[in-house]
Amino acid sequence: MKPVVIIGAGWAGLAAAVELSARGLPVTLIEAAPTAGGRARSVRHDGRTFDNGQHLLLGAYRDTRALLARIGVREADVFARTPLELRMRDAAEGDLHLRAGSLPGRLHLAQALLGASGLTLRERWRWLRAAHRLRRAPAPELTVSAWLDAAGQPPRMRRQLWEPLCLAALNTPAGIASAAVFHRVLEDAFAGPEQSALYLPSRALGRVLPDPAAAFLRVHGANTRYGTRVRHLSVRDGRISGLELRNGETLEADTVVLACGPHDSARLLAAHAETSEIAERLTGLEMLPIATIYLDYGPEVYLETAMQGLLGGPLQWIFDRGLGGEPGLFAGVISGSGPHMALDNETLAATAQHQLGQHFPSLGHARSAWVVRERRATFAATPVAEALRPASQTPVHGLWLAGDHLDTGLPATLEGAVRSGLDCAQRLAAAG
Ligand SMILES: Cc1cc2nc3c(=O)[nH]c(=O)nc-3n(C[C@H](O)[C@H](O)[C@H](O)COP(=O)(O)OP(=O)(O)OC[C@H]3O[C@@H](n4cnc5c(N)ncnc54)[C@H](O)[C@@H]3O)c2cc1C
Repeated sequence: MKPVVIIGAGWAGLAAAVELSARGLPVTLIEAAPTAGGRARSVRHDGRTFDNGQHLLLGAYRDTRALLARIGVREADVFARTPLELRMRDAAEGDLHLRAGSLPGRLHLAQALLGASGLTLRERWRWLRAAHRLRRAPAPELTVSAWLDAAGQPPRMRRQLWEPLCLAALNTPAGIASAAVFHRVLEDAFAGPEQSALYLPSRALGRVLPDPAAAFLRVHGANTRYGTRVRHLSVRDGRISGLELRNGETLEADTVVLACGPHDSARLLAAHAETSEIAERLTGLEMLPIATIYLDYGPEVYLETAMQGLLGGPLQWIFDRGLGGEPGLFAGVISGSGPHMALDNETLAATAQHQLGQHFPSLGHARSAWVVRERRATFAATPVAEALRPASQTPVHGLWLAGDHLDTGLPATLEGAVRSGLDCAQRLAAAG
């Protein structure tokens, strides 16, 4: 039996490889980069290991958590888990502080809103009633802004809660983001206190999933080839027949999972008439950046909560990595496009420090700074994008797709990537 060839060792490709290997199918996993992880990986800089960007998982990431359990990763070893707590720093309108309650189901959110500090009693009631109005699923063509308008959300609630959460969760500003996708995220994330809990990686991302998954694959006999780029898919009579690597080597295959990002996948699919329409749709997905600014303030410096929202930019969130065993290291996050992308790294790091100094005057000066920009971090989760996202099965027999850009209904997240990989593997196995 020829191995199933999986192209791309991001979290989607790894999830598919684990699922197929666990079912006893032979697997070859091919990755262009020297390490696994894709857009959620560890990188070395100045003798230290960093993540390519700050990542946050939620308790609602059920498939990712199940995958970790399956490959033998104990959550307590790789995450610092805290109940949902949102501290939004806002010099213009005053800070907001919400802490999830312990009541079951969505009552924990009601509890958080009723107990919010920074709001008057009247505002809390208005916010609670307004949050309830967002339970009805929006029409697919609506943007988040239009949806919030229609549901009469109080302006301060929009500015301090919904718009920052939308940008963080979808990496897409509310003005163009899909209300249907955001609604799904809110329904999942606020389903109960377990789902809304924050899971902050306490190890380098590579050690959370990519390394343990690679170890699992080795034990199950899978063949992994890193630093190997696929440059062409061979299709004969409507069936996949193999692939060609950049070094000129060819591999025969009758089942291939293409788990590259949308634009890399589109390049490989565009060469064949049967898949050119999918390629066109993937090319239509607009990619948006995420910038992470690491600032090292020294081990004695810390914030009162591991994650805080910052309104008024350019940093939108600040993470204190102390909980994850890196005291004094802060990660500032800017999702989406903006004027910050035109600044050089030094100016951006200085701007970030200045902003932090205004919110936290006791911080002092950072000892070092490092800026990581992922220019193609995620696709923009717009209503148009929702209509473009493909299913895992293609018109070419034996050729399957996986990746966060598939039609999972979730935004581009680790959970979306893992779900797409598992779903693809299950369908492929069922198809025989
Ligand atoms: C800075 C940043 C912060 C983020 N924060 C969060 C967060 O907090 N929470 C969250 O849930 N999600 C977050 N995300 C999104 C999340 O990282 C992605 O959704 C997820 O990693 C995508 O995984 P994937 O496997 O679908 O694609 P990818 O990770 O892009 O994997 C595709 C792989 O295919 C390989 N490849 C491409 N072309 C070829 C080829 N021709 N041959 C062989 N290999 C090839 C690539 O090298 C890559 O490794 C963030 C993303 C970024 C960039």
